[in-house]
Amino acid sequence: MSEYLEEKIKIGISACMYGCKFRYNAKGWNQLEYLGRDASSYVWYPVCPEVQAGLGVPREAIRITGESGSSVWEGSGKVISSSGKNLTHALTESCKNALESLLKAEVSVFIYMEGSPSCGVYRTTLKNNRLGKPPGVFGHLLLENGFFLIPASDLSSPVKRWDWRRRMLAFLWLKKQTIDSKADLYGVWHTLKFLCQEIDESQARLLGHEIANLKALDASEAQSYKQIILNMLRRPSTASKIKNRLWKHYSHYRKQMGKSVEGIQRPNDMRSMTALAQELMKMELEAMDTDYLFGAAPVVNRKKKERDVVE
Ligand code: SF4
Repeated sequence: MSEYLEEKIKIGISACMYGCKFRYNAKGWNQLEYLGRDASSYVWYPVCPEVQAGLGVPREAIRITGESGSSVWEGSGKVISSSGKNLTHALTESCKNALESLLKAEVSVFIYMEGSPSCGVYRTTLKNNRLGKPPGVFGHLLLENGFFLIPASDLSSPVKRWDWRRRMLAFLWLKKQTIDSKADLYGVWHTLKFLCQEIDESQARLLGHEIANLKALDASEAQSYKQIILNMLRRPSTASKIKNRLWKHYSHYRKQMGKSVEGIQRPNDMRSMTALAQELMKMELEAMDTDYLFGAAPVVNRKKKERDVVE
């Protein structure tokens, strides 16, 4: 049976991806449009470290001198405006404030604008505009504080959207679990192992083997196993892994429940990403209706009692 996360999920987001025209050139995009009605299932926490640093809109573009945003925190890099003004102190202070406001609100998921020297995480280079290596100055703090990070561009792809949602739910559910004993760890692993195997088969197999052979578990080991699994859940899957796993779970479902789900296709069948996302959601609903643990999406975000009325 799936696990349930019943509360509304809090998500931080780069304000310019939330529709605020806050970029240095007064641009902004509403990436939440891609979520449609789903956008109202979350509570949003938009932040803009550059505007919070007292920089207006429009403003000069900034760049990082040094290796990356991390080097700004280490003291070897600086934040400089295009006319040469040193903005290091103003930006690091506003990044700290933005982080504090997210942590105070217990937000641990963040949708970031790629390419930004502030909010960028895995890429801080915009097309034809070299701004330094990732992460950005705020991106560094998000990584360091273990946020579940979603590139804003992933919202436009139906399969990537499905991928981050199910990993995010598993991540938040795991964060809430107390793991005090081997039995607790087995329980958590039983729920999440199929998803972890999809993300990284060899790491998950090794981890599963280790967990199965544990003699004892002290508090710090429990914490470190939890952290390893949380980190795995932060890593994206791929369309090809998703297709293969969908078929594997579906085949198991058919065998165990003795019934089919119309429209689920084999891994090599050609279909669009939208069609694949529809199959995944269909399988999720079917699993919820029948109390079947769909290992690819083991945690669902709804109230348990609603389960019986899902169509
Ligand atoms: S990328 Fe971050 S700092 Fe830049 S405008 Fe967007 S929210 Fe503000």
